[in-house]
Amino acid sequence: MLKSIKLSDFIKIPSSPFILGALISRIMTFKENDKNYFYAYTSFRASKFVHYSQFDLVKYSKELIKKLNFYSHYDNWTEHKVEKTSVELRFYILDDVGMSKKAFYKFIYQRIVSSAWILNQSEKDMYECMRGFMELRGSVDTSLKLIAQDYFYDDSNELKKAQILTQLLNIPISYANFNARDLQPQFVNGTNKRNTQFRIKLYFYANKIGFLNDYKAKIFETAYNEHSKDIIDGITYFKVTLPNENNDVTFLKYINFFTNNIYQRQLTPQAITQLRNELKFNSDSTSSNGRNKAIIDLYDKISEDKCAICGTTQTYFSQSKGKQYFEIHHVIPYYNDNQLDNIANLVKLCPNCHRMLKKGSGTKEEQILAITKILHEHSEVYEFASSYLGIDNINELAKKIQTMLG
Ligand SMILES: [Zn+2]
Repeated sequence: MLKSIKLSDFIKIPSSPFILGALISRIMTFKENDKNYFYAYTSFRASKFVHYSQFDLVKYSKELIKKLNFYSHYDNWTEHKVEKTSVELRFYILDDVGMSKKAFYKFIYQRIVSSAWILNQSEKDMYECMRGFMELRGSVDTSLKLIAQDYFYDDSNELKKAQILTQLLNIPISYANFNARDLQPQFVNGTNKRNTQFRIKLYFYANKIGFLNDYKAKIFETAYNEHSKDIIDGITYFKVTLPNENNDVTFLKYINFFTNNIYQRQLTPQAITQLRNELKFNSDSTSSNGRNKAIIDLYDKISEDKCAICGTTQTYFSQSKGKQYFEIHHVIPYYNDNQLDNIANLVKLCPNCHRMLKKGSGTKEEQILAITKILHEHSEVYEFASSYLGIDNINELAKKIQTMLG
């Protein structure tokens, strides 16, 4: 039998931020001798920047396992494939309760969302989670100053969770971005059909989050000729300058990701320039409050002027907005929780339908019906709400949300 922890035990005891990050990043399944396992993994290859003759990966993998165990709080990491030029280590969980992969995802996500360190916004723990999320599968780009990991278009849950997680962990929009496949020039001209990548600015990562894997730290050090560093509890932090937070390119990609992949709309370059100015994304004074307002304004701009409940596109002309008047509604009501200022938690409503959703305004039945309709027709809202509340079934989810209306 593989070295593993039983899922029934894993559920009972608290998990470290690091292993939660590793699992939410990607959950794999494996079957051996009629037993089902979930696993998280790390895999990496020798880089031309640090030749394998100068860094013994076989020897180092033993040390790395100790470190991974330490940060995971389980003595569970094991060698899957360890060679001179490539390493894969795995963390197995034996599924002794017969849980689906999707349900296990939801469980991990719930555990993150409801953890004390997210609620208290503990930076140390959030960065630990991000390290598990990003570094195990991510590779150090040796020319673009990015740490990047692949996502797969047939698993949009993973991609959306990456987006949700970034907001949850307070990673500035301009430090993290998607390089969606259909935006890459190589994809458009057919030379390279890469997967979508989720990427974080490498200098932010190297400075704030730090490298657990000494080999990746060495690649960073060599490729970018940065030698000033601190090693604390086995994590290498580089004393490098943080990148500028305001970055036009990442802002463009953020908007593109939502407009193309979720709202299926195309914006002209002129429209994007106008948006950027209107939302003051170029200003240096973007506070965390400002950012939330910006997300709501952004949603107002990029989503179609159409009520998500009754479907009307005509309300009345708003002089101040210069267009038809609509209101932005938080599907899971906003209770001073920044996590809910997520673009995937917003819909546009006409004033009548919005009023109907106020507590005590519409009947319970019509409110549930309206919420069910929203969840059916907006998959990104369903995905966000079901992950946030840990409820898969649409009808149950709508009933739960109705009880939360304010
Ligand atoms: Zn309406």
